[in-house]
Amino acid sequence: MKYISTRGQAPALSFEDVVLTGLAPDGGLYVPETLPTFSAEEIASWAGLSYQDLAFKVIAPFVGGDIPDADLKKIIDDSYETFHHDAIAPLVQTGHNEWILELFQGPTLAFKDFALQFLGNLLDYILKKREQKVVVMGATSGDTGSAAIEGCCHCDNIDIFILHPHQRVSDVQRRQMTSVLTDNVHNIALEGNFDDCQNMVKSSFGDQSFLPEGRQLVAVNSINWARIMAQIVYYFYAGTALGAPNRPVAFSVPTGNFGDIFAGYLASKMGLPIDQLIVATNANDILHRCISDNDHSKKELVHSLSPSMDIMVSSNFERLLFDLYDRDGAAIGELVEEFKSGSMPLSDAALEKMRSLFSSYRLDDDAMIEVIRKVFDDTGYLLDPHTAIGVEAARKVRKRSDIPMVCLATASPAKFPEAARKAGQSEDPALPHSMQDLFDREERYTVQPNDLSVIQQFVANNTRA
Ligand SMILES: *Cc1c(COP(=O)(O)O)cnc(C)c1O
Repeated sequence: MKYISTRGQAPALSFEDVVLTGLAPDGGLYVPETLPTFSAEEIASWAGLSYQDLAFKVIAPFVGGDIPDADLKKIIDDSYETFHHDAIAPLVQTGHNEWILELFQGPTLAFKDFALQFLGNLLDYILKKREQKVVVMGATSGDTGSAAIEGCCHCDNIDIFILHPHQRVSDVQRRQMTSVLTDNVHNIALEGNFDDCQNMVKSSFGDQSFLPEGRQLVAVNSINWARIMAQIVYYFYAGTALGAPNRPVAFSVPTGNFGDIFAGYLASKMGLPIDQLIVATNANDILHRCISDNDHSKKELVHSLSPSMDIMVSSNFERLLFDLYDRDGAAIGELVEEFKSGSMPLSDAALEKMRSLFSSYRLDDDAMIEVIRKVFDDTGYLLDPHTAIGVEAARKVRKRSDIPMVCLATASPAKFPEAARKAGQSEDPALPHSMQDLFDREERYTVQPNDLSVIQQFVANNTRA
């Protein structure tokens, strides 16, 4: 299997090489040259498989023989061993034909563990085989950093550096990152905001000459193809549990960078009968405006109570655009160029294709809090702020009530006690057993100035020989 850039100007890469990179050299994102597809009979035969066995079926065609089956199977098994629930992604019913897919049973209580536990093990395997060492550098406003650190902390051939905005992530989020004390993990609290963190990482990827001889940077944000790939699995898992391929399913997805829902789009292209994919956004609603009004224009970032969706421009949207424009890399290059002026209207044909599968909805903080309160009053089930937006979006724009609607629960409510209290909970939602001592654990991080050369020097000095 080969991987090509959405801008059409970069050489194609093998699976292993695409995992070890970030953006393509032409600025695009890598996607598979062709998608594997599964027949209805094949999908029907997966009913009842364990999450890990299903993951192998879905992932193996993308790896295309780069990794022997037995090794791939072990990478997958090890990745989901760390989850706290035997079902890995349990379904809970909250209404008529309405289901919550709990994607927060991993070590850091957010859906990013699905991809980052897997990516950590995959990198470890590839690097050992190649006798190669790499540096992981990433920026986080919260969930990505802890999931990446948990994924990479046991990898001998990786030194990982995660930048977070100093004093601007929650205590739970910071402690989840800074209490991992293995000597390949470095937390940098940057005296700046999240954009500053992200710009440092971007500049460092652009010119890697500050790294020690023979090292390269690997991206662990959702531009890394392996993250998208691992997320396709739970769409098939939930779909087959609810009757696919004999009946269709629908999904509502709390969306930020468009990585999670893009995996759902791929599942539908691969043969899962998906009737509707709902893009649920908070006040940072560029995707909702694009889908509903063809208004894909930049607006000031709003800080919301669903911080993991506080994103001004969604990077993975380019992967969808590539398909909507019939995989014409030059057309994508032109669109991106146009977007530099601030706005990017889509063609009628692209818009029509998108709307045949995607719907969208936007919810601001006050309305989101009311959803947490209402769902708890009705069912006793406590939603986190991101998931609450997805549930309300499903209730507002769902097309057919006879088709099961799966709302992806992207984080545990225990990560967001402030929202729970605002919604009338008298006590903070409990952290799971494995994290009860989080506030007693030793922390390690370094506060650094908002200065690229200082950060790069720090990374170079702390990369192990
Ligand atoms: C990352 C994240 C999202 C957004 O996912 P994307 O793939 O960026 O669209 C939503 N909810 C939570 C809790 C997250 O951590």
